[in-house]
Amino acid sequence: MERMKRLFVVVMAVVALSAMAQVERPKLVVGLVVDQMRWDYLYTYQWGEGGFKTLLTDGYRCNNTIIDYVPTVTAAGHASIYSGTTPAFHGIAGNHFILNGKSVESVQDDSEKGVGGNEKTSGKSPRNLIATNMADQLYLATDFKSRTVGVALKPRAAILPSGHNPIGAYWFDDNSKSFVTSTYYMDKLPKWVADFNKKYRKELSTDLSNLPMGTTMTFALAEQALINERLGQGEVTDMLTVSVSNTDMCAHTYGSHSPKVDSIYWQLDKEIAHFIEVLDQRIGRGNYLLFLTADHGGTHSYPRMTDHGLPSGSMQNSKAVTIANELLAWRFGVKNLIRESKGYTYYINHAVIDSAGLDEDVVKKAACKALMQQDEIQWAVDVANIESCPIPNILKERIKLGYFAGRSGEIYVVPRTGTFDTKPEWAASNHGTWSQSDSHIPLIFLGWHIPAGETSRLTHMTDIAATVCAMLHIQAPNACIGTPIEFGWEY
Ligand SMILES: [Zn+2]
Repeated sequence: MERMKRLFVVVMAVVALSAMAQVERPKLVVGLVVDQMRWDYLYTYQWGEGGFKTLLTDGYRCNNTIIDYVPTVTAAGHASIYSGTTPAFHGIAGNHFILNGKSVESVQDDSEKGVGGNEKTSGKSPRNLIATNMADQLYLATDFKSRTVGVALKPRAAILPSGHNPIGAYWFDDNSKSFVTSTYYMDKLPKWVADFNKKYRKELSTDLSNLPMGTTMTFALAEQALINERLGQGEVTDMLTVSVSNTDMCAHTYGSHSPKVDSIYWQLDKEIAHFIEVLDQRIGRGNYLLFLTADHGGTHSYPRMTDHGLPSGSMQNSKAVTIANELLAWRFGVKNLIRESKGYTYYINHAVIDSAGLDEDVVKKAACKALMQQDEIQWAVDVANIESCPIPNILKERIKLGYFAGRSGEIYVVPRTGTFDTKPEWAASNHGTWSQSDSHIPLIFLGWHIPAGETSRLTHMTDIAATVCAMLHIQAPNACIGTPIEFGWEY
């Protein structure tokens, strides 16, 4: 009897395994994120052969993909794309936020150490990402056999997409001018990464943030990951996440449509062409599922608008805090009642409020009023009491979806339409607001089971993970709020 039981268990296990093997999946999922890529860039540049042109002609385009939360910034974007949810659920409330009373960078982790690099290379991890993402779900669905690698210049752009247990995440460390990782993942850099750092020592010591070389190095490392880790060559689906960071870094310095940014996009087009060629050869077009999107868009610079008679406005969050604090000090007799701003999210100074014995709700109300007296600010919202605030529902929803209590600031500031954090004389782009420039992103799928086509129906950043998981027949990430996109829609 005991033997029969055991035999039954063995038979059932074999049945279960073969059932699992029957699920048809691609060999590889490739996520490509271009930092601060505006949607209209797809139609701004004249692309060469093989790169964006292939994506536009052979891929499926979603022309109306929107980010449904604020702040529209890198860490929140990368976390949301891959987890199919928003900061309210995954906890990545911004590039920087407050954690246990301290200001942290989204992937900073002092319990870990840098690996590779030098003594200044700091420890990082995805621990602040409290939701699972598509790499995690793939890992679960394949009984922990699926292997993921994340690559980018920015740490957060390599770490947040590749989930909680990738075989590696690698980013560029400016201190040591090399690609590094952290003890969260491993104790020693793989030989192929160390060799890469040696081989390209000269290239890696150039200004990667503002030169096309940054794009080239990103894709060169991604290609080495593909080859050396044999991604897409195993029995289950693997995943490679690549993020292009210098498109953002350069636009923050020189502005969208500047010759510097243009030259990075020309190079990106060539790198994508080469990368698709490599994928086609190694994996085969029908065997990989690739998507390209952006973590957020970006504004035209203030001079680019105003020089041509178009409405734009400039404000600075740090200045707005100073002005409001002066008014609040006059009323309450206490300085620095607003502790700081991180983008458009403002933090109340709990320590000062407590020691002065003030009522926090009264201070927040007065702070919102003081901020809204400034012309550049359309609304300042006490997020905990947002339902009593007369702002349009579309903004209410986006603020709520982007707010993680304890990590986000208590007050959210919406600048006037067209106004953003910049100095009038700066020819630089920025992002972070709910506006079309920041929240409308490109989205293209290519490869496995993807027909050529396009739609202008409304789709959401959170639909990306929902779509990939639905196609692969794996459970969506645990806080996913997106809906799978059905290809073949016409508009
Ligand atoms: Zn940026």
